[in-house]
Amino acid sequence: RAKESGRGQVLFYEPVMDEKIERRRQLAAAMNGALERGEFHLLFQPIFRLAQNSIASCEALLRWHSPQFGPVSPAEFIPIAEENGLIVPIGAWVLEQACQAASTWPSGATVAVNLSPVQLRTENLTVMVARALKDSGLPAKRLTLEVTETVLLDDVERSVAALTALNAIDVCTTLDDFGTGYSSLSYLTQFPFQTLKIDRSFVMDLEHNPASIAIVQTIVELAAKLGMRTVAEGVETPAQLDQLRRTRCDAVQGYLLAKPMPAAEVAALFAEAAIGERSPGQAVRLPG
Ligand code: C2E
Ligand code: MG
Ligand code: MG
Ligand code: MG
Repeated sequence: RAKESGRGQVLFYEPVMDEKIERRRQLAAAMNGALERGEFHLLFQPIFRLAQNSIASCEALLRWHSPQFGPVSPAEFIPIAEENGLIVPIGAWVLEQACQAASTWPSGATVAVNLSPVQLRTENLTVMVARALKDSGLPAKRLTLEVTETVLLDDVERSVAALTALNAIDVCTTLDDFGTGYSSLSYLTQFPFQTLKIDRSFVMDLEHNPASIAIVQTIVELAAKLGMRTVAEGVETPAQLDQLRRTRCDAVQGYLLAKPMPAAEVAALFAEAAIGERSPGQAVRLPG
């Protein structure tokens, strides 16, 4: 709907926009005290190493079940938590919980935790991470923190310093959603990452778009040359998995292999894999 304003200007009035702002405001209010009330929980999504067909790692994914709004997607509530600062205590809780869960997994298995840009800019990040490790008894090597590339641009020096400090205490770092932001290849040499996570948008396209095959192939080769591992996210079909095997991607994650699941199910999966298969540890049979 357009309204005529004073001097012949036309103002667009969008009721939909008001609704969005109102929902955001209500969610922000509902988020106050949500952590203390136990409304958050974590799911874990396995990440499989292709060479050994084994579970290499699990990514911790945050869930919020609000009594008022029901389940709210992290895509919706994390930006709000970043805006009002609640992501700092919530993120610290995520890290604690994830490290505690991982400390019960086989000794080769690592846990990946998403880190918000707001957390990356907090003064005492390394101290907070070190505490979560100490409290859980999880060795630092078994934790990797995922950061999306858009984060890094705001303040390059500070991002490099924060990531370097994490590496210095033996925590690994992963560049998440690689290829979606304003990525320049030079970032790969500027920022200290041990792993590159190839964004789902490239994986989705693998079956039908030869250009995507070329891109994924190139990312994997480049990462290898720079001494980084690669994980492809969002693998949904056997054809995509096949293609990723051919490109020698190190690891894969997606609904085809396993959905995000409660900690108890992950533990059961590890236990099952340990007794079932040939190689010691966590071998599992992948489709395809
Ligand atoms: P992300 O880190 O890129 O996580 C991968 C997302 O893809 C997850 O969505 C996961 O459930 C979904 N996914 C996994 N496999 C497939 C697949 O085969 N197909 C499709 N369509 N999706 C798949 P989720 O859990 O909704 O999380 C969305 C985003 O929210 C995450 O993207 C991450 O950026 C953020 N997030 C989640 N948990 C946390 C957290 O604890 N802290 C922070 N700062 N961000 C988080
Ligand atoms: Mg992630
Ligand atoms: Mg991702
Ligand atoms: Mg993604």
